[in-house]
Amino acid sequence: MFADLHLHTTASDGINTPAEVVTLAKEKGFSAIAVTDHDTTSGLEEALKAGAGYSIEVIPGIELSTLEGEIEIHILGYYPDPECSALQNMLSQIMVARSTRAQKMVEKLQETGIDIDIERVKEIAGGKFIGRPHIASALLEKGYINDLSEAFTDDFIGRDGRGYVERFKLSPKEGINILKKAQAIPVLAHPGYLSKGEPVSKAEIAALKNDGLQGLEVYYSKYTSAQNEFYLSCAKEYSLLVTGGSDCHGQPDQINSLGSIKLSYNYVEALKKEKSKQLAINRGK
Ligand code: AMP
Ligand code: FE
Ligand code: FE
Ligand code: ZN
Repeated sequence: MFADLHLHTTASDGINTPAEVVTLAKEKGFSAIAVTDHDTTSGLEEALKAGAGYSIEVIPGIELSTLEGEIEIHILGYYPDPECSALQNMLSQIMVARSTRAQKMVEKLQETGIDIDIERVKEIAGGKFIGRPHIASALLEKGYINDLSEAFTDDFIGRDGRGYVERFKLSPKEGINILKKAQAIPVLAHPGYLSKGEPVSKAEIAALKNDGLQGLEVYYSKYTSAQNEFYLSCAKEYSLLVTGGSDCHGQPDQINSLGSIKLSYNYVEALKKEKSKQLAINRGK
């Protein structure tokens, strides 16, 4: 039995709908998957329903985009209560900010002579969530780039890019707090892959643990085995739950495609145990 605890759908910047992700995972023999869209829980209902229909365990999740200074830190949250008003209020603010930001990024690109328009970007996004990958797709279809990753450079919307606009400012600590309010288990996503700066160090992991972090994404599609070992040792040292996932966005034949990570189901058991423990504690309060 194996699992993938980090997947995206059309609810954020993935290509496949939540139901499609579930059926694809079932076809590949997964016992459990977590749907962890960026800054939204809107895909969870569909995913959970599909999971029940196809007899595959769907773990509800989210991946919050946070900023520590200029460093992007993504915090996964497992089993959030989607009804939590503090969480949903925050997510609505983030969605509005994403929309304004996309508009500004398009304007900045237009100022450099690039002919793309926000209406097309919105159409590509197809929903409330607009991220840089949707702008990248608009650049691709107009022939400005040959590959989506080319958009994430200085010429376009890489962090130091001519068209870049900063995201909504939420610190990792605030992100962890809001996840905890929603009774989710906060886990640091891809500690080896954060934009700007070095991979997260032990000291930073210790600081996040102090802020309430409960797990570490030890297994990740893009890690080397040395990185797996390093983050496994960090998880042990700081008593953090071990998770793992592909971070698949639906593009086929990529390093992070579905099936690139087959996490032992034992880690899912441990995550569920932690969730039950937390629920029991909260009930007793
Ligand atoms: P945003 O949250 O709107 O700033 O967009 C970040 C998203 O862009 C990430 O979640 C990835 O899906 C995607 N992304 C970031 N860097 C790259 C890259 N170099 N190539 C392709 N996609 C990327
Ligand atoms: Fe993404
Ligand atoms: Fe991420
Ligand atoms: Zn992700």
